[in-house]
Order: sequence, then C-alpha cells, then structure tokens
Amino acid sequence: MRIAVIGGGPAGATVAALLAKKGASVVLIDDGMRPPLIVGESLVPQLVPVFRRLGIEEEVARIGVRKPGVTVTFGAEDEIQLSFQAVRGVLPTYAYNVPRREFDDLITRTALAAGVRIVKAAGKFEIEKGSLVRLAPETLAEVPEWAGGRPDFLIDASGRRRIFAKLLGIDAALGPRRDVAHFAHFENCPWPEPAGQVMTMRLEYGWGWRIPLPGPRLSIGVVINKDDAKRFGATPEEQLEGVINNDARLARECGTRRRLTPVATFANYQLISRQGVGPNWATVGDAFGFVDPMLSPGLCMAMVSAERLAGAIPVRAGCEASRAVRLRQYEKWFRHTLSAWQELVDYFYDGRIFAMQRTGVQMSGEFPGTFSKLMHRHVEKNLSGMASGAYVARPYSRWLLRTLGKRFVFGANPADFAIR
Ligand SMILES: Cc1cc2nc3c(=O)[nH]c(=O)nc-3n(C[C@H](O)[C@H](O)[C@H](O)COP(=O)(O)OP(=O)(O)OC[C@H]3O[C@@H](n4cnc5c(N)ncnc54)[C@H](O)[C@@H]3O)c2cc1C
Repeated sequence: MRIAVIGGGPAGATVAALLAKKGASVVLIDDGMRPPLIVGESLVPQLVPVFRRLGIEEEVARIGVRKPGVTVTFGAEDEIQLSFQAVRGVLPTYAYNVPRREFDDLITRTALAAGVRIVKAAGKFEIEKGSLVRLAPETLAEVPEWAGGRPDFLIDASGRRRIFAKLLGIDAALGPRRDVAHFAHFENCPWPEPAGQVMTMRLEYGWGWRIPLPGPRLSIGVVINKDDAKRFGATPEEQLEGVINNDARLARECGTRRRLTPVATFANYQLISRQGVGPNWATVGDAFGFVDPMLSPGLCMAMVSAERLAGAIPVRAGCEASRAVRLRQYEKWFRHTLSAWQELVDYFYDGRIFAMQRTGVQMSGEFPGTFSKLMHRHVEKNLSGMASGAYVARPYSRWLLRTLGKRFVFGANPADFAIR
C-alpha cells in the first residue's frame, strides 16, 4: 500500500514511522519550513508510553529535562501544584520538557529508520469528485519509486495550515480566544521548584509559562490578547519583556534573566475541524484540531492521534470497508478528546479552577481534619490525572470537575480570577 503523509512535524513523522513499520510504502512530504525556535516544549505523561513504543524514551531523556508536574499561579501567593505522582499505577509519574528542534529531529530520524522516504517539497493537491484528495502531478513526480502510481491513502499532517480542510472547504468550530504568543529562551534565571516543574502563570493580561530546559535554560512565554499586547510596546521583544516586568512575581524571580534567542511569535486560538477523515484521506495532529496550549495537550494529541490513525489503517489491500469504519471511530475519538481538553482549559480561563482552590483552602482552614485532607487529595488526583492526559476524557473526573465547578465556589467569585 502506498501512503503519502504531508507535513513532517511530530504527528506526520510518527504516523509515517508507524505505517512504514506495518509494511506500507510511505512517503513523507515536508516543506522544511520549521522555524529555528519552535513552540511546544512542555510535554505530558501520556506521551511517555508513546516514546517507549517508538523506542525513543532514552533519547528524549537525553535531550530533555524530566518534568514532575505543573504549578499554576493565579495571585501574588496563590498557586495550585499539580504533581504527576497522582497518576502512579496508570501512567509514568513524570513527563519531559524538550527543545523542539532536537525533539522533532529525533522523530524524523525515527521515521527514516523505519523506512520512510522523506521528500523535501511543499505538497500540492487536487480534489477529484468533490471528496477524493490527489497529489498534484508535480508532487507525484517527486516520488519516482511509485512510477506515477497514485498513493492509496493520504494523510494531512500539515499542522495549523489544515491543507485538506481548506481545499475541501471543511469548516471548524472555533474557540473564543484570539491571542498572540511571544517566547524566548533565557539564561541566568533560577528554575522553578521542584527541578523541572513547569510554571503556568495567570498574569494581569493573559497568561505565561516558564519551562525549564537543558542548559540550564528557561523558556519564558506569554499569551496575551493582541490588543492588550500593544500596551507593552510595538515589537515582540518589547511586549515579551513588558509583560514579564509587569508581573511582580515573574519580574522578581526572573530579574537577572539574559535572553539567549530571538523572540518567536505564534498566533494562539482554538479550533476543531468538523470533518477529519474522508474516503481516501485523514488528518492528524493540529491539522485535525488545535486546543489552547495552557495545559500542553498539543504534542500529546499529535502523537497519540498518530498512533490511533496508524492503527486504523490496514496496509493490506481489500480492507477498505473496515478502514472506513475504523476511520470514523478515530474521528469520533479525536473530536471527543479535543473537546475534553478544551473543557478542562476553559476552567482555567474562566477562573472556576482558581475559585475552587480558594474555596478548598478556606474550607480546610475552617474544618481541618481527615475529611478535608482526603477531599483535597481526591480532587488534586483527578485534576493532575486530567492534566497528565490519562483522565482528561474520563467521565468520573469530568463529572467531579463539573459538580465542584457549580457547587464548590462559594468562597470566591470565579470572575475575579478569570484570565483576561
Ligand atoms: C503558543 C503555543 C504554545 C504551545 N505550547 C505547547 C506545549 O508546551 N506543549 C505541547 O505539547 N504543545 C504546545 N503547543 C502545540 C504544539 O506546538 C502543536 O500541537 C504541535 O506542534 C503539533 O504538531 P503537528 O505535527 O500536528 O504540526 P506541526 O508541528 O505544525 O507540523 C506541521 C508540519 O507540516 C509542514 N507543512 C505544512 N504545509 C505543508 C505542505 N504543503 N507541504 C509540506 N509540508 C507542509 C510544516 O512546515 C510543519 O513542519 C503550543 C502551541 C502554541 C501556539
């Protein structure tokens, strides 16, 4: 079976590697347009088993930093510490932070080692009979080993460019945010505690991240409404530095920082495609949907969806009917999981999670004792489990969060903690 994968990011390279391992003839078409500094450095524990199945965990550990959890700050002294210890017995109790260039190169090497052929080109396509995707002749000509024969199946892994969706006029459900994200790597900044912990900070305008990287470096990023960003200056550098200096805790803890890289800028929004598979094609990773990065679901969804998609495509001829059924299941899973991540992130944006934390702290003060402690531990376990990817779509965890979000915010008003 001949398969063309378009886009050599983590989603494309992973699905290509897995399909090649299953025996397909796979060509990965990538335009080589990845910038030197790529956003998306903080990973979640659900990825670790994927690394193990690809046989690359040791390499990931070598290029990255072990991440024990995430701390979310939402006031001068208020914070929620999420530890991945909570998923003991379900998933590894850690994840990694990685410099993306090295990480993406590692996945590309994995695809090459699996027998994938990489074509450096911007893929061009045509639509036939309204719903079939074809490689344009000039792109097909880049694959001489197929001797002009068309691929049996095509996979769009072009990230937020969503090539197939745009060609086919497929609409998407969009979330409310329209932000700009600026980030850079810094040195001479203390790492947050415990070592490797990622910090997500609610700021006066928008939110920010601190991601420890080898070096030791610290990736500092801010995600802010485009109009608010202009308050801090006209350039990405002024806006990034201005937002950092505007936050007392961030300015204090990173006061001695020295910037090592240019400031990289990315758009931030939320998008889920209304259709992710077709008769001879499927989308994977960001090309299917993109959830806000506050809790770092991006690479997890990219690589887990790649595994799921590879599992849904039989590489033997004559299995088209079962492929169609499996692709529909894949599409359903993808949409459901993205929506679950989005719902979780919404609790942070609209302030409910912070109001719940305040209420919990207040209750523990008023009614100290075993029940309060057990309750606190149970909620934390579910929340950390969701942030790790393991429980994000688990009905019980979602029910718990919804119930607490409605009934357990009497000590504080969520609107006071909403992210602007
Ligand atoms: C502000 C921000 C912060 C983020 N932080 C995190 C984080 O901390 N953790 C995390 O897990 N995720 C994070 N993400 C999300 C993460 O970066 C993405 O989810 C991830 O990169 C998606 O991988 P992908 O392979 O689907 O797409 P991409 O990484 O975008 O790869 C797509 C590839 O396709 C290529 N391509 C496009 N069109 C063509 C064409 N016509 N022909 C050939 N090649 C083509 C592109 O050049 C690119 O190489 C963040 C995103 C943003 C915006």
